[in-house]
Amino acid sequence: MSTEHVIQPKSSLHPRSVEGRFRNLKTGILVLAYAVFFLLPWLRWERAVGPDQSVLFDIPGRRYYIFDLVMHAQDIFWLTALLFLAAVLLFFVTTLLGRVFCGYFCFQTLWTDAFRFIERAIQGDRVARLRLEKQPWNPEKIRKIGLTHLAWLGLAMWTGISFAIYWGDAYELTWSFFTGTAPAAMYGTVIILTLTTYLTAGWAKEYVCLHMCPYSRFQSVMFDQDTMIVSYDMNRGEGTAGRVKPVKEMRDQTNRQAAGHGDCVDCGLCVQVCPTGIDIRDGLQIGCIHCALCIDACDGIMDKQGWKRGLIRYTSEHGLEGKKTKILKLRTVGYGLATLLATIYLVWSIASSKLLEANAVQIRSPLYVTLSDGRIQNSYEFKINNKSMEAARYTLTLENLPNAELDLGQINELSLKPDSSMRVLAKIRYTVQPGDTLKNREFQFKLTPLEGKVTEPVIIPSHFIMP
Ligand code: SF4
Ligand code: SF4
Repeated sequence: MSTEHVIQPKSSLHPRSVEGRFRNLKTGILVLAYAVFFLLPWLRWERAVGPDQSVLFDIPGRRYYIFDLVMHAQDIFWLTALLFLAAVLLFFVTTLLGRVFCGYFCFQTLWTDAFRFIERAIQGDRVARLRLEKQPWNPEKIRKIGLTHLAWLGLAMWTGISFAIYWGDAYELTWSFFTGTAPAAMYGTVIILTLTTYLTAGWAKEYVCLHMCPYSRFQSVMFDQDTMIVSYDMNRGEGTAGRVKPVKEMRDQTNRQAAGHGDCVDCGLCVQVCPTGIDIRDGLQIGCIHCALCIDACDGIMDKQGWKRGLIRYTSEHGLEGKKTKILKLRTVGYGLATLLATIYLVWSIASSKLLEANAVQIRSPLYVTLSDGRIQNSYEFKINNKSMEAARYTLTLENLPNAELDLGQINELSLKPDSSMRVLAKIRYTVQPGDTLKNREFQFKLTPLEGKVTEPVIIPSHFIMP
């Protein structure tokens, strides 16, 4: 990998806009990602209980709502599984297709792309922006530059607000934000996100990819000669005599080939459209985020010339050498399998999560009490968690503990609202039988649903301690 451009980013890049299939794909992903991020909290979603916001992370209520999925604090391991899945998926995709995540899905790419759209809409395309940059400060320059930064700040602030409203009611939080009554945490979050978004997407731009992102540093260890990456076909582009501009007889491909020149007409368009300002003709570089915009640019030139597309294309090192690209390799299969297993586990775990949970914790001080009538009493804190969206009623009984009585105090009926939990103090009084010397008895609590979504009883093993 060449490092020629690693530490020499252009100080002020003005990438040219380009049309083509990869640009369309990037724009499509950008629109979809923005639609999801900015609109989801505003979408209402009816639930039997709980808020009517489609996606809401309710920290005080310890509930995380994603459409019909309601996660509780104890489901946090799903997040661990999701992070693991994201990591192996990233490794899998990188091994196959290089840095496509960077080029299409990374937040930095998406926001920088949106900022560049704004810049282009206000200041014009590359040539106009270069001219504006060189001209002295005058009313036109102040207006255009000022408007650009205002629009960037607007998008950055809306990004911060959109993030913050995932953690509460979107309508209420937005209203309170603009009327000065929002919680301090919201103002803090919005200020931090506005500043970081504005600085990274508006000022740092490609510097983040080139100097700050750790992923670009270790991506090369995941590449091999069969990884599909954006590559310049050196043999075709340079020939034996190098690239040459299409002047005079060099406009004709046959003449060029006869003179030993390749198909690269040295138009420089692939460099001008590059968002990180590198020249793909210098080989694979750490600054290349594999956005493929240089492919679109070069394909456009090849189309104009009437020559075959693909001088710059997605291919592997083996492909460029005329060898076969091997997709199925131990590493790819391994990452693919890990991705598949992590997906299956996550889906299974969510689909089979219990809607009724119960546990009993023995109160240990004291472990037992001998009552005046000679019976032995043990106490337990019994917890029932009804995770369903329906109200439920239960009965609690004992199994394998004859001669024992269960006392739930003032509670006659165990009834719970939808998505709620309760704690009950359960006392068990045991009548000691002649010759009964066993000190530790195993028994079970049996929680039987009488009404509600869950119909299967829950058995909770426990112990009864004797003197
Ligand atoms: S766009 Fe294609 S033809 Fe133009 S300089 Fe780049 S590689 Fe050469
Ligand atoms: S070299 Fe091509 S693929 Fe790489 S970042 Fe630049 S435009 Fe994107």
